[in-house]
Amino acid sequence: MAIQKTDAIVLKTLPFRSSSLLVTFFSKTHGKVKGIAKGVRQEREMRGSLFELFTQLEIVYYEKTRSDLHLISEGFILESYEPIRSQLETIAYASYFAELVDELTEFHDPHPVIFHLLDFSYRYLPSLSPERLARLFEIQLLREIGWVPYLEDCIRCHAKPSDQPFFSPNQGALLCKNCARDTPDAKPISEETLSVLRYYLQHDLETSIKLSVSFQSEQGLALLMNRFFQFRIHRPLKSLSFLEKIKPVLC
Ligand SMILES: [Zn+2]
Repeated sequence: MAIQKTDAIVLKTLPFRSSSLLVTFFSKTHGKVKGIAKGVRQEREMRGSLFELFTQLEIVYYEKTRSDLHLISEGFILESYEPIRSQLETIAYASYFAELVDELTEFHDPHPVIFHLLDFSYRYLPSLSPERLARLFEIQLLREIGWVPYLEDCIRCHAKPSDQPFFSPNQGALLCKNCARDTPDAKPISEETLSVLRYYLQHDLETSIKLSVSFQSEQGLALLMNRFFQFRIHRPLKSLSFLEKIKPVLC
């Protein structure tokens, strides 16, 4: 068993037997990792919120070679992102980010960019528009895992959509008006929404966050991303249903 030490952010926890926890992390160096932390529920009072959701820790774990479940021996809190925890809205968005990463990444597939994306988002979630950050998060995540929407030209005839462009969530691609006629899931996309999407895909998080985006484009992009994920994730995300439920309360 090799001993590994890495910085990691807690994505999910589940009680295991009487006193242990199953913890899914996204680590800086080894991608998504799942481990068992023994005895931590009994020590909870003493060790406080060590394995709370969203916390960034330095963890030491024994890597099992024949299993995806490793043994976590130590954890030190590096960043607890405390301001996220005081509001329902930020907790809901932070949960969405964690669930999306858990859903779309494989174990032991390193993506330092995704670790940075989580850290950045948890750090700035309390001070930025959560909706805005959510779109950037989704798009940066798609870019990193290689699910980049095709936006060069119409994916079927390769014409540049001259008037009204369409987007097919199923194909993850742009279509011209003609080709969209026999593609039932294709919906019109405004030029502005399309250019925002292109900008987000071409720029990093820190640059993209500074772009000024109209309310209509934000709404258009939210709808587009929602449909895009529906075609790719074949089960409803719990965090997303929760977010939908609390939205009326937040407005
Ligand atoms: Zn076409």
